[in-house]
Amino acid sequence: MRRLLGSFERSLSLLNSIPDGVIAQSDSDQLIYMNDAIAHMSGYPSVEAMSNVTVTELLSRLQIMNEHDQLLIATQLPGYLALSGQQVPEHEFRYFNVAADELSWLTLKAQPVFDSNDEVQFTVSIIRDTTQRKQLEARTIELVTERERVKVLQRFVNDMSHDFRTPLAVLSNSLYLMQKNTDPERQQAHADKANHQIQRMEKMLEELLHIARLDENKVKFQLHWTDINAILAPLILEYELISTDKSIDLKFIPESEKCFAHIDQFQFEHIFTNLIENAITYTPNNGKVTITTGTQNGQVLITVADNGIGISADDLPRIFERFYRADQARSANTGGNGLGLSIVQRIVEEHGGQVEVTSVINEGTHFVVRLPI
Ligand code: ADP
Repeated sequence: MRRLLGSFERSLSLLNSIPDGVIAQSDSDQLIYMNDAIAHMSGYPSVEAMSNVTVTELLSRLQIMNEHDQLLIATQLPGYLALSGQQVPEHEFRYFNVAADELSWLTLKAQPVFDSNDEVQFTVSIIRDTTQRKQLEARTIELVTERERVKVLQRFVNDMSHDFRTPLAVLSNSLYLMQKNTDPERQQAHADKANHQIQRMEKMLEELLHIARLDENKVKFQLHWTDINAILAPLILEYELISTDKSIDLKFIPESEKCFAHIDQFQFEHIFTNLIENAITYTPNNGKVTITTGTQNGQVLITVADNGIGISADDLPRIFERFYRADQARSANTGGNGLGLSIVQRIVEEHGGQVEVTSVINEGTHFVVRLPI
């Protein structure tokens, strides 16, 4: 072994000039070789000052941790494991860099050294500080995320400006025609049109503020154990007038008399105001809108189904995106802004639930909201 170690040391003398740490050990606790980099990493003034240092002492200096933040002990070191004759693949660990006085990263790779009888004499471990690479990776991820955020923001501002420009143009045109016209009836018609655009912009601003507050986690959800049938019944009643106007058959079918879930009533009402309004808006005259409640597999299920214009398979995966509107809805000129469903999805998720949609073009759409009980 002395001969093997001698030739190993000779070939490793060169390695004193490289930044990687190298140690050799012949049992769980005895260090038989280490280079300058190891002394530096573990905070010893020189290799000479480490002459009687054991593996355990070295570990107590380096404080190498596994993925569960537990300190490694000597028998868990790759160098010890390689004493059985196996090559131990490279592993990455966190450790405390004494010289830099900070938590750092290193990789450890160990290899057995055999004598002429194929017996393992000792193992050699290469220790590489990978902190800089790790920091660079983290910085790259941060930069990519930041770039994504800027892109999303740019798209958001573009969509928003575009969506405000349309009602503003109609508003300005209506005001101009109101001034030009002397006929009171026509003036009233233009005033109504202007008023409608103002309401549309108000709604959009409200929704934008709602989204911003949800994004900044400023909305405090007060969840209470509530009978959702008791909330939905009066809410649906509010839509009787507009559904009658369109001769739409609006129905509420609760599975049982009471149906309880933990909800924030205000936000819950917002979800169904949106889904029911959409169902009525995107269903032509004489259509049908049905709201049902029930329980299934420990969840409360609320469905809003219509037999309206439907959503194409291409549009379906995108309708929860901000400002996204299917072509059909755009051409129906319903004056929507594509923000409602993104808010619905956020609120449902804040309740720990999911919202799903299925739809067939010209046959109808089916939204299901699932909430945990
Ligand atoms: P909008 O203000 O445009 O209604 P939403 O976010 O509420 O915005 O909905 C996004 C899009 O999803 C709508 O523009 C429409 O294309 C589609 N959509 C939503 N609900 C329905 C429905 N019940 N039937 C058909 N299309 C729907």
